[in-house]
Formats: sequence, structure tokens, C-alpha cells
Amino acid sequence: MSASIEQRRHLATSIPGPRSIELMARKKSAVAQGVGTTLPVFAIEAGGGIVKDVDGNQLIDLGSGIAVTTVGNSAPRVVEAVREQVEAFTHTCFMVTPYENYVAVSEALNRLTPGDHDKRTALFNSGAEAVENAVKIARAHTKKSAIVAFDHAYHGRTNLTMALTAKSMPYKSGFGPFAPEVYRAPLSYPYRDAKDVDGAVAAQRAIMYIEKQVGADNLAAIVIEPIQGEGGFIVPADGFLPALAQWCTANDVVLIADEVQSGFARTGAMFACDHEGVVPDLIVTAKGIAGGLPLSAVTGRAEIMDAPHVSGLGGTYGGNPIACAAALATIETIEADGLVERAREIERLMLDRLNRLQADDDRIGDVRGRGAMIAVEIVKSGTDEPDPALTGAIAAAAHRAGVIVLTCGTYGNVLRFLPPLSIGDALLNEGLDVVADALEETR
Ligand SMILES: *Cc1c(COP(=O)(O)O)cnc(C)c1O
Repeated sequence: MSASIEQRRHLATSIPGPRSIELMARKKSAVAQGVGTTLPVFAIEAGGGIVKDVDGNQLIDLGSGIAVTTVGNSAPRVVEAVREQVEAFTHTCFMVTPYENYVAVSEALNRLTPGDHDKRTALFNSGAEAVENAVKIARAHTKKSAIVAFDHAYHGRTNLTMALTAKSMPYKSGFGPFAPEVYRAPLSYPYRDAKDVDGAVAAQRAIMYIEKQVGADNLAAIVIEPIQGEGGFIVPADGFLPALAQWCTANDVVLIADEVQSGFARTGAMFACDHEGVVPDLIVTAKGIAGGLPLSAVTGRAEIMDAPHVSGLGGTYGGNPIACAAALATIETIEADGLVERAREIERLMLDRLNRLQADDDRIGDVRGRGAMIAVEIVKSGTDEPDPALTGAIAAAAHRAGVIVLTCGTYGNVLRFLPPLSIGDALLNEGLDVVADALEETR
């Protein structure tokens, strides 16, 4: 069973192997090409820090299925909770006949999210769906309509969240028209901002833009990832988020923190907002919430969350009981196994190694991130010019050597590392050795 999968990288064939090549051919003729894949290998089993493929290859997982399997794949408590729930009942629809574990997940989120004010939660299926609902709730509460999102933002692929997302290719191109009343403000991007632009200056720059081009009287909400995901793991300069939060409070604007990628112990705190003591009005969670089962949530101030009328929120599957059982087991695992602290250990290990690599490789422009959410920005030697081709070549070399690494960033030049918190130090070090070799190979 998956929990006992041998924690060792192993190449049984070249990557991809013959079984995967066969399955990729079937995929090509059956699945829409719009649904792309990073690695053309088909998974058969996964656990700890390993993904095993259909050819018997064992890959080191530095991706966690995009920050989802934070507690590990098929984590034992999650497996047990799901098994029990699936045998009891699979669905009744919470809007028809409710069940306890939906309420228990809501209570847990109200307890764990930043701030000790009175909170409410609503559950959904995907990150994008939860972001959409956070916007609905903010509009219902403020009776205003404009929404501000930021440069490099990623909030999903539905119509409204495409509008909130910054990057055209591949997320938006050809899929418009997009939802109206969405405005984009400048972010704090320490590596690329001028040296004198600290967090306070960057916040003032964004606020000036918002006041002049949108107007607080029209603005329902600011949506921001406290640490950006797809946009390149950009950590805003200290003071940027607190200044925005303060401005929102003073102007009756709802601050929505999109912690879909950064939440649930990923960054070495339960939520990324916690690093600066920022208390958002609404917080959106998904990805790491339920050990791989589809679940998302909006949690926030009771008076805002309760603004929409009865039956104004919901969905057939939102807060499915199996996903809720998995979420409770995931939260129990994070707390019982000390995974917040584990993410901090992983940060120390990864930053130490990547900073050393950067010291003698001027193609590594920046090393950044928190916890087990760390990235390097790849540039043309000695410049700050993005090098997406080299980034892709490094990732491809790592893939061939049996390590799952992902890329991201507006310029496609960021290698990001999102190991499951269940990975051991030996495997993590070996994964970084492979990345170091890939950097050498492409020099
Ligand atoms: C992945 C992601 C989303 C969208 O989540 P889905 O479950 O893919 O809809 C939204 N916001 C952030 C920050 C994300 O990383």
C-alpha cells in the first residue's frame, strides 16, 4: 500500500517508459489537448516523497500535485477517514440533508485561520469556485462591484477568475470576453522592483493607483495571494500586505487573501498571512486542505460571510462528505505530526542548498519563498533578463533523472519546489542534487 512505498528514487526505464508512452498515445486520442501534462509519465502509486509510474520508475516528488498533497499522498489518516466515510454514505447534498463533518470542517477553519473574531465558512469544490464565491460575498456585503487583483496574479480558470488572473498564455488567450469590473494593481516584487521600493512604498504605489483609477467608493474587494503561486512564488516586501490590509479596513473594502496554494502549513505557518500578522476579512483555501480530495472554502468575518441571503451560496457537491472527512484527517495530521515546524525545517534545508548553488551560478537571479514553497528565478548569465528556455531545459533534465519539478512565473523562468511535508531529508537532498546536476548539465 502507498504509505509503505519504498522511499527511494529508481529508474527502471528511460523517462517516459514504454507503458507511459502507450498511455500518452491513448491520452492524445481521447483527451482534449487543452489539458496538458508536465511529465508524460502515468502514476500508479504514491506516498511519502515518491511517485511511482506504470513502468516501475520511482520519482522524487517536489511538486505535491501542485501543493495539494501537503500531508503526503494517501496519507494514512486520510485513507482511513475516506474509507470509513465512503462506506457510510458518499453524498446527500449538504443543501438537502446536512451532515456533521461539513460543520466540523467549518469549525476547524474558523479556528485555524488568522484572527480570533467571529467567523463563518462555506465549502466548495475547487480553488476557482471558492474565489468566485468570495467575490460574490464581498459584493453582497459592500454593495459595491469593482474588484482589484494584482500583477502576476493567478486565481483560476473560470470566467471571473480568468479575469482576475494576470497571465494571458496559457490561461486566458482566446477565452474572452472576461468578467467586467476587474482592475489590476502593481505588486511588490522585491527582485524586480527598484532598490528604493520597499514594502511601504510598493503599497503606496498600489493604493495610489487604486484610489485614482478605481476609487474606494466603487471597490468591493482586493484579492491577493500573500505569496504568489503560478505568478512566480513572489513574496511581497515586508510591510506591503499590512499596509494594504490597513487601507482596506479604513475604506470599507473587503481584503480577500487567496491562500489556495500558500495555505495549510505549506509556508511554515498555518497560513502565509500569519508571517506578518495580517488578518484578512475573507480567506480562500483549497489545494492542501484535504490531502488530494477536491474541496475548497471561504472563511471570514461573520458579518461579511452572512451578507448573502439564504440559498444565495452553495452547489451540488460543495463540501462533499468524503472530502470533508479527508480534510479533518489532513488537519489532524498537520497538527499531530508538527507539519508547520516540518515545513520550516524544509525551508532551511532548501534555502541553504539553493543559496549555495546561487553563489557560484549567476544564472540563478533570485532564491525566494517560505517553508516548503521555495523557488529560484533563472536569468541570462549575470543579468536579470528571464531565461524561460533554460528553465525548461533544467526542468526537463530533472524529469529525465526522476525528479518532479514544476516551473511557473509570468516570464516562465521560475523553478518551483513544493515537496510534500512527508518527504524525508535524504530524498529531499537527493532531489536537490538532481537539480544541481541539471544546472551543471545545462551550463
Ligand atoms: C490553483 C490556484 C487557484 C485555482 O484553484 P483550482 O482548484 O485549480 O480551481 C486559485 N488561486 C491560487 C492561488 C491557486 O494556486
